This record gives sequence, C-alpha cells and structure tokens, in this order.
Amino acid sequence: MTEKKRFVCVNCGHRVKELFKKYSNTMKTTQCDKCHQITDKYIEFEEFIILIDALLLDSCAFRHIIYNGDFKLYWKVSLVVLLLESFALCRQKLPDPPNASLHVHEKGFYTYTLQNMITCS
Ligand SMILES: [Zn+2]
Repeated sequence: MTEKKRFVCVNCGHRVKELFKKYSNTMKTTQCDKCHQITDKYIEFEEFIILIDALLLDSCAFRHIIYNGDFKLYWKVSLVVLLLESFALCRQKLPDPPNASLHVHEKGFYTYTLQNMITCS
C-alpha cells in the first residue's frame, strides 16, 4: 500500500498535491489555489538558508520543515542549537569561579537544558 505524500502551502497551510511541475529539463514551482502565492519557495533553497529562517522564527520555514522537507538532520541541528543555547544561558546566569575561564557547573547546565526544553515546547 503506497500512500502519496500530501504537501502544504508554506504561506497559508492549504493542502496541495504537488510543490512543482517537472517539464522536460526544468521544474516550475506551483501556485497555491487559496492564497495565489508560490506554494513552497524553500524547495529551491539550500537547507542552511531554511535553517536560518527557522531560527528567525519564520512560520513558512517551519511549515516547509514539518510538511514538505525531507532533510533528515533537522533534529540533530535542533539538538545542537538547544545545547548551545543552554550552555550560553548557564554561563550567563551562574556566577563564575574566580580562576576558571570556561567552567560550567554540570548540574546547572542540565537544569537549564531541561528548562530550555520545557519553555520551547
Ligand atoms: Zn497558500
């Protein structure tokens, strides 16, 4: 049983059948029936650009990642961003010992990571 994947318009969330039409040697993006904009502009972008837009909290980038994208490493990149953000938060909030330049309290790091995960969801 093969189920055909359904895509969504990244602008309005309307369900669409396809994101592009393929001609002999070119491909053309489709327009959404509801909002009449390009269905998913991100199919022509590199994954790094999409990730930057997602970090800037662009809802279109999130719709692309969740519904239309097939990049498998987003969860790993998200995990790295979460750990880096927790590290920065931990360094910012906890007082430094007098002679340690990059010392982080492990318990505080885990606490801030957990707090970061709860506030993100
Ligand atoms: Zn639309």
